[in-house]
Amino acid sequence: MKKRIGNRRDFWLTIISGSGLVILVVMLGVSFFITITDAETNSRKRFLRKQTELAATEIEIAIDRFEVNAEGVIDYLEDEDLDEDDFGGDLTKVVKEVFNNYPGLIDTVWINLQDSVIYLTRTERNDFIRNGAHEGIPTNGSRDFEYFSNGNELGFEIYFSLNPVKFSKDFVTHYYLHKEGTKLLMLGEELRNLDQGQQGRSIIEIDDLSFQQIQSDVAIGVIGLYEIDWKKGPTSGSGVLVQYPFDFGDFYENAALLFMIESESVTSGIYSTYLLLFSGFVFLLIGTVIFFTLSLKNRLESQKLLEESAEEISELFDQQNILLKELRGFVFFHNFKGEITRVSDEVEEILGHPKSEFLEAFRGEEGHMDALNVKSLVKEALSQYKSFIDLEYDFEKPDGLKVRLRIFEKLVFDEVGRFNGGLGICTDITAQFQINQELIESGKRLQNLIDNIPDIIFTYDNNGIVLEAHVKDQKFLKSRSDAAIGVSLFDLVPIEQREQTQFAFNLARKTEQIQTVDLKLRDGEDNQYFEVRFFPLDTKRMMSISKDITSQRIWEKGLVEAMNAADQASRAKSEFLANMSHEIRTPMNGLLGIIDLLDQTTLDAEQLQYLDIIKNSGNSLLNIIKDILDYSKIEAGKIEINSTVFCPADELEKQVNIFYGLAQKKGVILTTIYEPETKELMEGDVEKINQVILNLVGNAVKFTPKGGTVKVNLEIENISGEINYLKCSVKDSGIGIPAEEIPRLTDPFYQVESSSSRSYQGSGLGLAIAKKIVELMGGELSISSEQGKGALFAFSVILKKAPIIFSENPISEMPKRRNWNGMAREYPMRIILAEDNDLNLQLMTLILEQLGYDFEVAKNGQEALDMVQQKEFDIILMDVQMPVLNGLEAAKEIRKLEGKEKIFIVGLSANVFEEDQKKAVDAGMDDYLTKPIRLVALAEKIKEYSLKRSSSEMT
Ligand code: ADP
Repeated sequence: MKKRIGNRRDFWLTIISGSGLVILVVMLGVSFFITITDAETNSRKRFLRKQTELAATEIEIAIDRFEVNAEGVIDYLEDEDLDEDDFGGDLTKVVKEVFNNYPGLIDTVWINLQDSVIYLTRTERNDFIRNGAHEGIPTNGSRDFEYFSNGNELGFEIYFSLNPVKFSKDFVTHYYLHKEGTKLLMLGEELRNLDQGQQGRSIIEIDDLSFQQIQSDVAIGVIGLYEIDWKKGPTSGSGVLVQYPFDFGDFYENAALLFMIESESVTSGIYSTYLLLFSGFVFLLIGTVIFFTLSLKNRLESQKLLEESAEEISELFDQQNILLKELRGFVFFHNFKGEITRVSDEVEEILGHPKSEFLEAFRGEEGHMDALNVKSLVKEALSQYKSFIDLEYDFEKPDGLKVRLRIFEKLVFDEVGRFNGGLGICTDITAQFQINQELIESGKRLQNLIDNIPDIIFTYDNNGIVLEAHVKDQKFLKSRSDAAIGVSLFDLVPIEQREQTQFAFNLARKTEQIQTVDLKLRDGEDNQYFEVRFFPLDTKRMMSISKDITSQRIWEKGLVEAMNAADQASRAKSEFLANMSHEIRTPMNGLLGIIDLLDQTTLDAEQLQYLDIIKNSGNSLLNIIKDILDYSKIEAGKIEINSTVFCPADELEKQVNIFYGLAQKKGVILTTIYEPETKELMEGDVEKINQVILNLVGNAVKFTPKGGTVKVNLEIENISGEINYLKCSVKDSGIGIPAEEIPRLTDPFYQVESSSSRSYQGSGLGLAIAKKIVELMGGELSISSEQGKGALFAFSVILKKAPIIFSENPISEMPKRRNWNGMAREYPMRIILAEDNDLNLQLMTLILEQLGYDFEVAKNGQEALDMVQQKEFDIILMDVQMPVLNGLEAAKEIRKLEGKEKIFIVGLSANVFEEDQKKAVDAGMDDYLTKPIRLVALAEKIKEYSLKRSSSEMT
């Protein structure tokens, strides 16, 4: 706005100054004109005077010569030698010669020869002709001519008439004054007009004052210039008049020539000449002013536009500067030699070098190394016909700081394609560069990670189209994955899994949570399994990581198979052990059976002692076999807890009692301490608890030398309600165990002493079995000992408090018999013995005969079955393993028979496993006896079923 006001003011200022200039020029013109006019007037006056002077002088000279020539004529006449005869002719000749030179002045010449008068008249051809002598001497005043005469001593006289006006007129005609100029001759008091066509007296009248002045000046012979007023008939005016006095011989006094020009004519020329010039000049000036005004106006307008665009440009420039600052850059221009011509101020901030140094660096061929580098890059670009360069450059600032620069430069060529220079921008991109580097690094890390992930990585768009595939080391998949790019994932998976895959993919997209699908692909004959996990990579892409789980699948399958195989192996082991035990027990059975029979005979003391030794050996062998079987049963997980109600304190007492004799023999004090609570009835597997107690107490007695003590402690700790811990500890003062051995004691077959130097019997299985049993019953076994200082073995098991029951017929109250001989009378039974093995048959025959029973023998199951159908029997003692029809099959068949329901079947087998017993029960057997069959055990069983039979018969 301010600028606009300024512009308008400038405009008016220009107009005013322009007008002032015009006025000044007009004034200057006027004064110039006046000066010119004055100068012109003066020069005209000078010219007029000069003309007057020249003309007057010319006339004067002509008059003087005439006078001399006229004297010459007189002198001729006075010549004494004058030939009288020839006189007339000669005289004419002389007169002609003399007066012809003054045409206009002389009209007629009279020569008075005293006796005659000759007169000569001038002809039109300016020739003098002699006329008759009768003409008398003219008198003055009759004509225009004045008469002059001159006479000599002889009395000759010469007269001639003069016409001064005509004469003068002829002289002055070639003096050009001006068409308004007037030539006058003053003779005496009279003014005569000398202008052509004018005769006689002047028709111009000069104002009196000037005329008087002229007259007086003429009288004293002074040249004069006068400003006069004139009058010519009806017209009048002013003029400039020059008067020049001259000598008109002896003829006239006070002669002067007067040239006059009218004042108007003096200036009119000037006007016509200069006014035109002047006005042309003024017009030119005005035109110039107008032109300037217009061009000023235009200039102002364009200046306004310029200012506006300058404003815009400066705004742009400011913005650009801000941008440059923000960008951390500077702009530069260079010429074709690579010399920087201009560079923006930011260069110092970016490069750390002042502008001057920067400019210097690019000057000449030996600048800064970096400048030379950049120049050579430009040269290279030019050699490749590039129109720009765009590159990144590492630069070290003077302070040692390293920066990354980006140089973008446009190379400029002229119209014929010559390189003209360039302009460019250089920015500090260190920060972006570092970020980029970090990005590249992290990209590399990611790529490295991806490259080293054995999994298969796919990326997809949100519609499941495969964008990228990464497969490592899998030839079969690699070719597939390459072909997969651009294909829909859902077309790649087997058709039956398509829906599932689609669901997981879409769910992962929607929930942004990982979704997993297991895919099965076929590779020729084999199947390949993949666990595919879908998850969103960003808003537009999805990713899947697929893990080849084929081997895992195979392993899992293998695991199941291995488990089955192990199971089978375990079963095979159990079977082997069972078979083995069967095979060992059969002869053992015979052996021990015979011992039992021997025991029933009358023997002397020595025989009894030997028998005892044999019995013990047999028993310990049987125990070892039993332990091995127990452990293998536990290992195979075939052990079961059979809960019964019992009194812990009583049971402990029973087990400890077993060792009292031994302890006494060894000289070891064996004591038991039990809390009152242990007297209460509890529910649990008493057999197994006893087995553990037996083992621990047995070991303690075994490893405690003479004079030592074994203390057994029993207590109950209530956990909650019915549930209790039964805690038992066996402490001895025996040989103890080295600390490092303790953890291995519960390993099977582990013994502290090596077998070669063994002084203690045992299988090394006792503690292993005890530990397993205790753990099976929810407790634990702990061992603490120090070598030579005894050992403490403690265990706990969970027991339930038993509900109080009252037994009407307590079988346990039954008195124990020592001698079973002839029990058949007391407990009669009709018996079938089904046994195929001869040794066993002999043994059983011996035992049954010892007990006093009659019995019938069946060699296999089928025979037993036939016998049952033909005859009444009370009990069948049936071997399980028999040819033709085994014991189990036979039992099943018998149980199918009608009217034979009451017959008892007791299985006989070397197999001690519970499952064998269970099989027997399932087959319909009532009971089961493990071989080797001992006399007492068999007797008690027969007694039991005899009582059962008789009680059932009573009811
Ligand atoms: P064994 O049938 O050999 O006794 P165990 O498993 O019962 O098998 O015992 C393993 C070993 O532990 C024994 O051979 C013995 O070396 C050591 N041991 C067990 N109890 C005691 C104890 N009370 N004092 C010292 N050593 C013992």
